[in-house]
Amino acid sequence: MTTPALACPLPIPADQLIVLGHGSGGRLSARLTEQVFLPAFRNAALEQLDDQAIVPVPGGRIALSTDSYVVKPLFFPGGDIGELAVYGTVNDLAVGGAIPKYLTVGFILEEGLPIATLQRIVESMAQAAQRAGVLIVTGDTKVVEKGCGDQVFINSAGVGFVPNGLTLGARQVRPGDRILLNGSLGEHGITILSQREGLELAGDLRSDAAPLNELCAAIVAAAPGLHAMRDLTRGGLSSALNEIATSAQVGIEIDDRAIPVTDAVRGACEIFGLDPLYVANEGKMIAFVPEEQAAAALAAMRANPLGADARIIGTVTEKHPRMVTLRTRLGTERIVDMLAQDQLPRIC
Ligand code: MG
Repeated sequence: MTTPALACPLPIPADQLIVLGHGSGGRLSARLTEQVFLPAFRNAALEQLDDQAIVPVPGGRIALSTDSYVVKPLFFPGGDIGELAVYGTVNDLAVGGAIPKYLTVGFILEEGLPIATLQRIVESMAQAAQRAGVLIVTGDTKVVEKGCGDQVFINSAGVGFVPNGLTLGARQVRPGDRILLNGSLGEHGITILSQREGLELAGDLRSDAAPLNELCAAIVAAAPGLHAMRDLTRGGLSSALNEIATSAQVGIEIDDRAIPVTDAVRGACEIFGLDPLYVANEGKMIAFVPEEQAAAALAAMRANPLGADARIIGTVTEKHPRMVTLRTRLGTERIVDMLAQDQLPRIC
């Protein structure tokens, strides 16, 4: 086993050149959005900065989302790049309260890729789409010269229908909301990292990649006062909470003892020097629910196999706006900051 390169010791001119951290979903990604994309593309739907954009169409609203997948390796325990491309887009739509319906897929293939590899990915995408109840309705393929890509990159975009009267989003979050998490953290990121490092870990370590649309719909039905949901991909729980604290101008308090992490993930995090709060997931989400509906939302989550281990992990507060704090297992409090650099590049 070699030690993974988790940080560059040299100062990187991140304001002049693209660095890996610009893809982290953390502070550098946010800065790129604020300084490059938002000034150029600014509009009311984009400005919400949620996982999906919700736009009016005659007779209702639709949600749109797009994501690109560059995970390395392509295949790993519990999933592959194709499954991530389907579930990632489905989940970004679902956490906005939308019913995911149609997906597009764009492939960027490197010259020399075995067609059998592509076929395996495509079959996996077909199964994932079926499981999530969406149709892949259009696509595109480009091929780049050998050495100009890394086997397969996939972009997937999706459309979902938003039920009338439902408005979810980071800006809807209010002090007093309870924060619900559907299960244990870090399995996807740690699975990818241990594959790359050739580390044999005790226990059954698999990516948690899964479609969250049925779980999200169950929460919407059980808690009509629901304010927001987020999936916990790049940057993990900490990035999602920090983004929401900033958007909603609220403080967030979470309790480490309430946050499930498996022994295998905790052990691997200790070996790699990682914090499970920052590690990527592909089948985990949080919901912000008014206190009086939290029990109903929790029961609805636990009734779904993807929420069997759901917990209430924290509360939204008026205190310390834009700041996330964690009550540790020792009973002390610490600030949970946003990740600046990329902890694990090419995780999804
Ligand atoms: Mg997301």
